[in-house]
This record gives sequence, C-alpha cells and structure tokens, in this order.
Amino acid sequence: MPEEAAQAVEAKALGGGARRARKCTIHIIESRCKGCGFCIEFCPRDVLEVSETLAPNGYHPPYAARMDQCTCCRTCQLVCPDFAIYVADVEPASGSAES
Ligand code: SF4
Ligand code: SF4
Repeated sequence: MPEEAAQAVEAKALGGGARRARKCTIHIIESRCKGCGFCIEFCPRDVLEVSETLAPNGYHPPYAARMDQCTCCRTCQLVCPDFAIYVADVEPASGSAES
C-alpha cells in the first residue's frame, strides 16, 4: 500500500482526518549488518545512507542521514535479511493532548 494511502487509513482508524505525529528512532545493530544496502534501497523517503564508518565485522552499516524525512514506516526493518535494523517508537511526552 502506498505511504499516503496507509497514512489515510491510519488517520481514519484513529477517528479523525488529522495525521498523527509519528516519532521513532532508527537503530542499527552493526555486528549483524552485512552492508547489503537493502534498507537504503527500499526506504521510501531516502532517509538512510551508507556510513563511512567501518564496523568491526568489516562492513559499512547504514545510518539515518535524514531522520526528519522518516515516517516510521518500518520498511527498512522488514526488508533487512539479518535483523540488523529496527524502528523504535518514541512515546509522546506526558501531558500531550492525545487520550
Ligand atoms: S522507517 Fe521507513 S522512512 Fe524511516 S528509515 Fe525506515 S524505511 Fe525509511
Ligand atoms: S538491510 Fe540490514 S544487513 Fe542490509 S545494510 Fe541494511 S541493516 Fe545492514
């Protein structure tokens, strides 16, 4: 499902037309990463890039170069064959309006 369609379905499921602000963090487990680049290739928002850092296992892992573009869709997590990248939700600050 295209990203916009998925967000529209989600907004409807939340009971309103307004998009929920989504916040997350991207985590790379460098010891598992084989540098295949799938996560970079399939990210729909071009968030990830190859790091210049060489991990101890000899591969260049990805990093979130444009995190402000991330929609927390988890495509990177789903396509990684080595379970080396995952997306963690960031809880909204207490006292937010969401009930
Ligand atoms: S969660 Fe989605 S938008 Fe964010 S880095 Fe992963 S694939 Fe890209
Ligand atoms: S898909 Fe997984 S193994 Fe491949 S570069 Fe990304 S994090 Fe590394």
